[in-house]
Amino acid sequence: MEVIHTIEWMKQAAREARAEGRVIGFVPTMGALHAGHISLVEAARHDTSPVIVSIFVNPKQFGPQEDFANYPRSIEDDRAKLESAGVDFLLVPSVEEMYPTGFRTSVNVEGLGDRFEGRARPGHFRGVATVVLKLLEIVSPRFAYFGRKDVQQLRIIRQMADDLALDVEIVSCPIVREPDGVAMSSRNAYLSAAERKAATALYRALDAARQAISAGEQDAFRLSETMRRVLASEPLASTDYAEIVDADSFESVTRLRGTCLAILAARVGSTRLIDNMLIEASPETVPADRNSYRCSL
Ligand code: AMP
Repeated sequence: MEVIHTIEWMKQAAREARAEGRVIGFVPTMGALHAGHISLVEAARHDTSPVIVSIFVNPKQFGPQEDFANYPRSIEDDRAKLESAGVDFLLVPSVEEMYPTGFRTSVNVEGLGDRFEGRARPGHFRGVATVVLKLLEIVSPRFAYFGRKDVQQLRIIRQMADDLALDVEIVSCPIVREPDGVAMSSRNAYLSAAERKAATALYRALDAARQAISAGEQDAFRLSETMRRVLASEPLASTDYAEIVDADSFESVTRLRGTCLAILAARVGSTRLIDNMLIEASPETVPADRNSYRCSL
């Protein structure tokens, strides 16, 4: 695995791969890698070669009160994990390399970024879209892999890629969970033992919604109530939102229809965690009636 620190060097390596007719796969990350990240690498390895991973803790997507300075960084461990996962190139640019003095451009995907994570974290998605577009320009992959763990981010990146006619396919990968259901996240490292236990409330809330759906519940308000009840029963967790939204528009729905998402965010201690569940109409039951929705955690 070749470790690359500069944009020019990365562009050159990518140009050479393309000139050989190879299909580049790209996995952007902020490091502190876990099995969720590695699952994206595996998906990329399955489809493409070379596989390029970036590690860049992007200051533009952190608010002034957020954890940019303290975000977990473990570059040596990460390097070893990526090497054994069969990654070809690791791009690790500095902040100065990505945002030299005088940098002025930002990318804003209108509308989709105003709600939920966008409201809780003003400027966050603008920072994400800006860095992802820049990384896609540097790496010029045919396929780029993102986790459904950050489902609103994924939706926004897809929108950006469509709107700007980017020559890349955005691939969505399933959420990788710990054995107790907690979605893997670099921020889980902040949790104390008691908080880590309490973090299962997010999964339990989604699972309760799943059970209600499989028993025939399709009323979105009652499903949200079910999720909020589970979260409220955990003393160390405080709910930010727990909603059923349309998977395309991220607007709240009153009843399940088409493809929806159960999305939630909660603070556990001082750590903000997010999770979600995909709710899809089963193709075999048309018109929609009891038990006609399939849930993917
Ligand atoms: P991050 O390093 O947190 O910016 O995440 C980099 C990529 O890994 C994003 O596309 C995330 O959605 C994805 N990711 C993070 N956690 C998970 C997980 N538990 N399962 C699947 N993908 C994940």
